[in-house]
Order: sequence, then structure tokens, then C-alpha cells
Amino acid sequence: MRPKGQNIQGRRRGAVSGKQSVEPSGDLLEVSGLAVEAGGRTILHPTDLNLGAGEWKAIVGPNGAGKSTLLKALATLVPYRGSIRYRGRPISEDPLGYRSELGVVLHEPLLYRELSAWENLLFYARLYGVAEPHAAAQQALAEVGLSVYAQEPVGRFSRGMIQRLALARAMLHQPRLLLLDEPLSGIDARGEEEILRLFRRAKEAQVAALWVTHRWRVAWEIVDEIVELERGAVRRITRTAEADRESWEPSYLEEEAR
Ligand code: ADP
Ligand code: MG
Repeated sequence: MRPKGQNIQGRRRGAVSGKQSVEPSGDLLEVSGLAVEAGGRTILHPTDLNLGAGEWKAIVGPNGAGKSTLLKALATLVPYRGSIRYRGRPISEDPLGYRSELGVVLHEPLLYRELSAWENLLFYARLYGVAEPHAAAQQALAEVGLSVYAQEPVGRFSRGMIQRLALARAMLHQPRLLLLDEPLSGIDARGEEEILRLFRRAKEAQVAALWVTHRWRVAWEIVDEIVELERGAVRRITRTAEADRESWEPSYLEEEAR
């Protein structure tokens, strides 16, 4: 059983180091008692979580901890219990409005393999009702470094290229909240630098994110908080501005962390 009172809620305390850190305000997303059950057992125990505009939190933890489940519940892709408020209102009041502000990268890339990168982005730009779909698709491709592969069918893409395109798709409609599940997986070192620059720009533009990753050392440079999840419950929360990356250790045994 999980002890009561653990949550992902940011402590209302200022940053002490020089690193640019976002004060947790919770004004964008306020989640309380979020829980998921599947196959007759609890996968995510009641969890609280707040996120302000421009705030980034890394979600880390061993395989099976419930990280992906947490993101899917927030993306309203799996049944959940508890309350999700977005900009102060329950999302049930305007579920489409809420979803239209989300940019989601999950394990499934949600791309059409027989279509080109360009056609995929144009399709999604129109689906999202983006005002200038051509310009948006072009900019999104450039931002993830895929412009030269615009006309290639996605079926021929490497895993890293697919991840990049999935990110482009997720950011096409200028979402305010990113839900990212291992967005760097399969991406090579140069691509990673590009994606990290993209993340920094998004954060500067006040886009918020929950970023599931094993790469906490890399994430540390961007995120305001590291949230450790284990067996469906929050184990610990670290404000990166108040801790030292070199001496910090995850509370769980790292398996495949690079
Ligand atoms: P993580 O992303 O941290 O690796 P997941 O959220 O994918 O973990 O899964 C957490 C746990 O829930 C795992 O034990 C997984 O097997 C289980 N699980 C996930 N989805 C389902 C489902 N639809 N039915 C039953 N069990 C599930
Ligand atoms: Mg997962």
C-alpha cells in the first residue's frame, strides 16, 4: 500500500540557485487524486500534480512504475478517477478545448507510414484546424531538422526520425502543455541537441511539459522538478534549482539509463 499524502505537487518555495526556474503556480494544470485501474489492480494510486505555465517536470522511475499511464490519463486516453482542472476549470466542461491545447508524444507515433512526412503534418495541421497548415507544417519540419526528408514516406524513416516527426506533429498546433513519453528514444546525439533546443524554446514561450524519461541527467538542465514514480506512486520530488545534479541519485535502481 502506498502511504497517504504523497503527491507531485510543487512546493511553493522559491528557487535558490541562478538557474532559471519556474515557481510552481499550478495555474495551468491542477490534478488531484488521479488514479488508474486496469486488469483488476491499481496502476496509478491517487496522485496530485500541479503545473504552471512554462513549468517542466521530468517523470522518472523504473519500468512499470506507471509513468506512461499517468501521461495517458492526463491525455484522457485511458479511464481514470480523480479531478483534472485546466486553467481553473474541470476538463469535463470543455474536453475538446483541453485536448486542443495538448501536444502528446506517446510510444505509438500516430503517423501514417505510407504518407510522407510532409503529408502527415499537413493532415494533422488540418485536423487540428491550424490557420496556415502549409506554413505550420514547414516550420514544424524545420524545427525538428527534417526539412530535407519532407517527401520521404514515413515507412522508410528510422526510429529517431519517427520520434522527431512525432514531436513535430505534437507541436504543430502550438500546444500549451506537452505530454512527452521518452521523446528522445532512438534519436542520435546531434538530433538530441536539436530537440533539447526545441524544448528550451518551448519553455521560454511558456509552454509547460511533463516529460517521461530515463535520461534524467539530460532533462535536469531543462526541468524545474524531477518526480520519481515507483509502483504507481510518487516516491520523491526534487526541485532541480535546489539540488546538485552531480550528487543526486535516483531512489530506484537504474536499469537502462545512459
Ligand atoms: P511505465 O511507463 O512506468 O513503464 P506503465 O504505465 O506502462 O509503466 O505501466 C504500469 C503498470 O501497469 C505495468 O505493470 C503495466 O504492466 C501495467 N499496465 C499498463 N497498462 C495496462 C492495462 N491496460 N492493463 C493491465 N495492466 C496494465
Ligand atoms: Mg512507459
